[in-house]
Amino acid sequence: MERVVVVGASLAGLRAAETLRTEGFDGEVIVVGAEVHRPYDRPPLSKKLLAGEWEPERIHLRQPDSFDDLDVEWRLGVVAAGLEADSGVLHLTDGTDVEFDGCIIATGASCRRLPDQGRHAHVHELRTLDDSLRLRAELAEGNHHVVVIGAGFIGLEVAATAKQLGNEVTVLEGAPAPLIRGLGAEMGTAIGAMHVARGVDVRCDVDVERLDEAGVLLSDGELVESDVVVVGIGVVPNTAWLDGSGLEIRDGVVCDETLNARRADGELRPGVYAAGDVLRWPNALFGEEMRVEHWTNAAEQGAAAAKNLLAVSRGEEPVPYAPVPFFWSDQFDVRVQFLGRASADDEVVVATGAVEDDKFLALYRNGDRLHGALGVNAPRWVMKMRGTLAAGASWDEALEVAATFE
Ligand code: FAD
Ligand code: NAP
Repeated sequence: MERVVVVGASLAGLRAAETLRTEGFDGEVIVVGAEVHRPYDRPPLSKKLLAGEWEPERIHLRQPDSFDDLDVEWRLGVVAAGLEADSGVLHLTDGTDVEFDGCIIATGASCRRLPDQGRHAHVHELRTLDDSLRLRAELAEGNHHVVVIGAGFIGLEVAATAKQLGNEVTVLEGAPAPLIRGLGAEMGTAIGAMHVARGVDVRCDVDVERLDEAGVLLSDGELVESDVVVVGIGVVPNTAWLDGSGLEIRDGVVCDETLNARRADGELRPGVYAAGDVLRWPNALFGEEMRVEHWTNAAEQGAAAAKNLLAVSRGEEPVPYAPVPFFWSDQFDVRVQFLGRASADDEVVVATGAVEDDKFLALYRNGDRLHGALGVNAPRWVMKMRGTLAAGASWDEALEVAATFE
């Protein structure tokens, strides 16, 4: 293998490029990224950077003076327009083609939009550094009426930051509770209540009809007045550029358990791997196909994809990627951490602490097995559950472990 191209210059792409080097690959590495910025960290975009506490210099994913050490050719501000998976050619919008022996797809995801969203100057989305700086310029003044559409991670983190900056904030969610997909209805409701207790108006089961110059119009005719609107209604994986590539695309790039991409006919395409928000793969530890949209997964998958690409090129066995998924979210003074998975049919039990105290550990039961663990302001308890989940613990074993926590 002489040349590896990484498509997507964010967290998963950077970790892939770094790992190629640390694992001893001395061929050519080209990283193509649509944004003009060098890889930066997204979590502060809805928190410290949005709040004005941090400046963009603080969120580099690698120190600026250490980029050259990687000996990588960065093609930034350049978009991958197409891939011929079988012949190993990547087409770029600057008119050039890159022939490759290995390819790691790490193009992440983009914000889902409401119809006509782009027509209103006061309506924002939040995915990039530029989005965050635009929104912060408005929020910093305080005294706005901010309406956030969607009570997912973006919605609740932006709501908390906007409120702390002195704005009046309303959150509109279509589902019966906040964060249903991430945490399930019961715990989503508990997190929503923490926002209400801190002065955010959280409204669920709301049907947004359309955006209006004066605010957000609901389907029952009510106008929720606002001068700043933030739309946080989920993301779609960036796969449009892979149309016609010959790869299987199904709400993400479909891979096997070692992150090796599949062709549309179901066969593996040797040498093509994927990582991060864009990837869908079977996690053997959970017996579930997953597409995970969180930081730790993108970082670890970037490294795992690079290692497996190299291993196979050296005639070694690739290693299945089968972690316990993890994410965190900071909202006001509340740190939410989650390990594992949450499904709609999981039973949820508060095992340690109390929801009223804003400090607790909740366990998620699926059948006879521990499926997930949620900690609110309880980092020690959450971390102690990681090994229990990784070991595939039964429900009773999990309760026994949690009973030892103080
Ligand atoms: P991305 O970060 O989406 O990067 C993909 C890159 O590929 C982008 O730069 C994009 O421009 C580029 N690209 C796309 N298409 C092309 C193309 N055709 N050609 C070339 N380049 C292309 N997770 C947590 O666990 N905790 C948090 O607190 C948290 N906070 C977050 C806050 C915000 C505001 C956001 C947006 C996300 C947050 N996340 C958090 C999620 C986490 O940041 C993502 O899971 C992570 O960024 C995914 O990394 P990625 O490299 O897979 O994709
Ligand atoms: P998200 O977490 O998927 O939440 C989107 C929310 O909006 C869901 O509750 C969704 O409900 C709701 N929704 C969808 N359409 C709606 C509509 N028309 N009106 C009202 N509500 C609607 O996505 P996100 O909050 O936009 O975040 C974007 C991405 O960034 C995700 O990948 C997320 O994981 C990531 N992120 C992560 C963190 C973190 O891990 N701390 C922080 C910020 C961002 P349904 O599910 O019913 O559609």
